[in-house]
Amino acid sequence: MAQNPFDLSGKVALVTGANTGIGQGIAVALAKAGADIVLTARRDPSETRQLVEAQGVRAHVVMADLSSTEPCERIVSETVEAFGRLDILVNNAGIIRRNDALDFTEDDWDAVMDTNLKVLFFLCQAAGRRMAENGGGSIINIASMLTFQGGIRVASYTASKSGVGGLTKLLANEWAAKGINVNAIAPGYIATNNTAALQADSDRNRQILERIPAGRWGEPDDIGGAAVFLASDAARYVQGHVLAVDGGWLAR
Ligand code: NAP
Repeated sequence: MAQNPFDLSGKVALVTGANTGIGQGIAVALAKAGADIVLTARRDPSETRQLVEAQGVRAHVVMADLSSTEPCERIVSETVEAFGRLDILVNNAGIIRRNDALDFTEDDWDAVMDTNLKVLFFLCQAAGRRMAENGGGSIINIASMLTFQGGIRVASYTASKSGVGGLTKLLANEWAAKGINVNAIAPGYIATNNTAALQADSDRNRQILERIPAGRWGEPDDIGGAAVFLASDAARYVQGHVLAVDGGWLAR
């Protein structure tokens, strides 16, 4: 094992949905650990780019809309064109739609399942093919508390994130012997755009805070350390694991 098993110097990491929130937190943490970062976003991720470059590593942006599988191959090939390799994929981009199950629309089902699960799988496939050719890599999928729990009024989100947990294990089973580590991070309640509606709802906000042993919402930064660990040599014997980073929510 390397002298510092968490060192990512010389590695290239691709982070989806990197313009904001958890994706930005992970991109900056991987950069601090020494990785060059490819950021995918559908809006200009200039703030993340600056934060990454401030760590003394290289950043490259690939613009892509992840509502369909169309850009998956291009994202991986542009990454390799830019930096010559791909070692780490973080599937972070995701959306949520809220409605009662009785009223839930097909559009709200398809939009969430497509971005959160279908595109995630085909990006794993495109990256996995490249990593298999090059002797290995690390894939980190962003799951959720709703990988473990049912949630309420978020039918397609729960289905998609439960699927992310299952797919992470399936891919680990198929690819561990190829040197590709596939794991997931299940963030607890993190203060981002994704949870703005919950934070703004004073009853739900109070109920959530009462249940978090750490007594606060998480910050995108709180997820970064787990991503560095799972991307690094320190996690080389960790496969198919869904790591909760939740301030103790699931322990309650
Ligand atoms: P966020 O701030 O809304 O970030 C979501 C990211 O995904 C944004 O960069 C967004 O881009 C991108 N994205 C969504 N749809 C896209 C598309 N069609 N094409 C390209 N990019 C797209 O929310 P977040 O909380 O950081 O969420 C990041 C991940 O963590 C998601 O998978 C989410 O489900 C998961 N998660 C969040 C929490 C939490 O408490 N916040 C908890 C568990 C899991 P735009 O900015 O352009 O929309």
